[in-house]
Amino acid sequence: MAATELDPFEMPAGLAESVLDRARRAGCDHAELRVERIRSQAVALRDGEVETAADDTESGIGLRVLHDGSIGFAATVAHDAGAAVDLVDEALQVARVASRATGRRVELAAENPHGEVEWTSPHRTDPVLVPLSEKVSMLGDWSARVLDAAGIDHVSVSVLAVTEDKCYADLAGTVARQRRVRVHPRLEAVALGDGGDFETMRTLAPPVGRGWEYLEGDGWDWESELARLPGLLRDKLSSPSVTAGRYDLVIAPTNLWLTIHESIGHATELDRALGYEAAYAGTSFATPDRLGRLAYGSAALNVTGDRTAAHGLATVAIDDEGVEGQTFDLIRDGTLVGYQLDRAIAAATGMGRSNGCAFADSALHIPIQRMANVSLAPAEDEGPTTDELIRGVTRGIYVEGDKSWSIDMQRYNFQFTGQRFFAIENGRLAGQLRDVAYQATTTEFWGSLVAVGGASTYLLGGAFNCGKGQPGQVAPVSHGCPSALVSDVRILNAKEESGR
Ligand SMILES: [Zn+2]
Repeated sequence: MAATELDPFEMPAGLAESVLDRARRAGCDHAELRVERIRSQAVALRDGEVETAADDTESGIGLRVLHDGSIGFAATVAHDAGAAVDLVDEALQVARVASRATGRRVELAAENPHGEVEWTSPHRTDPVLVPLSEKVSMLGDWSARVLDAAGIDHVSVSVLAVTEDKCYADLAGTVARQRRVRVHPRLEAVALGDGGDFETMRTLAPPVGRGWEYLEGDGWDWESELARLPGLLRDKLSSPSVTAGRYDLVIAPTNLWLTIHESIGHATELDRALGYEAAYAGTSFATPDRLGRLAYGSAALNVTGDRTAAHGLATVAIDDEGVEGQTFDLIRDGTLVGYQLDRAIAAATGMGRSNGCAFADSALHIPIQRMANVSLAPAEDEGPTTDELIRGVTRGIYVEGDKSWSIDMQRYNFQFTGQRFFAIENGRLAGQLRDVAYQATTTEFWGSLVAVGGASTYLLGGAFNCGKGQPGQVAPVSHGCPSALVSDVRILNAKEESGR
């Protein structure tokens, strides 16, 4: 490791204490220090040849203070205790300016101190420590397997790996040292047809909070996914274009997670619902005056926000405001019952304790309210399997894998495509369909949720790069869900719609 990096687990003696002591003496009501080191790697191969190999380390110290009803923030890439202590005066100066600019007093919802906390997301092999040669060799093997199959013309394969080390310390006495590890491997194949026709298909494996062992089969069956993909892609290329109309959909978690993210995850961020976060990706139709009353969906719709799920990308022990990771209800039996909160928004709206949704994507950025793992609960007891859900459909479509999405600024009118669409005829799969997109409004779609699958169908999907804020920040987030049956959904033929 280069000497210019700061290790949040091995900080210079007394650094946090000196900063917090200075903040206390300056009269801060709250001060939180984050020392972070984030190592991000990307390796990508195209047709077996290395195209990208990036290895980036960002480290720094960030300080947020609450002083006389105003928030101030300052950060540095310097590593010494002197530079860290200087952050207090800088942050106080920002707080004074912010106070004049906003003209309103900020309060933070109370949180009991948690003392010394050490937490590491569960993993066996730190993915950023796996040598580049080993990564290229594994991705090269995956490429060759798919590229050698009949009818496959191109293969792109990549893996992103992040190890995020963070030491959080606040005036109340919480000191949390946390390491989060995550990987996102993906492979996409292209098959060319006649007359310029082509199709693509991507692996369905989601990004996860696991180590390199994920690529070796821990948590995902890569052998079977890579073996099946060429045949499925060939079939897709020769399959008929969908006839637009209304269909019953059985949606696999590999597709449904993204619909949850866009239509529920973002819509239940309270800053968005209050209109504070309008510029980037919009506000929300699910406004607080409808809390406890809005029929978001059918009685089968039960959604939680969750910072505790094993292998979840938004899972933490302590968030970036010193709040403990929790699980909380957002939608119960179809009704909106909660929001995702940080401490300022919880206090401003009288919602009580924050449910732990503050996150900053770097020591150099201020924490903002970011998404928890927002997840749809499976059926209680055993619940149906995906095959059983399909058996209940006379004329429908089974959907796997996410692809493109679009949703309006109130998180209400949406359209999603996918990786694989199979016709369902009289309870059985009857070959693939091309050019399928499903379109609905949020409440109409979730209101047509007829049944959710059992726990055996449950999977955490997710993304590394959910965007929010100005200046923009990215956050990793997972969404767990079972397979689901949604009735009578409008299906578009995407090709006809685009006039091709
Ligand atoms: Zn997002």
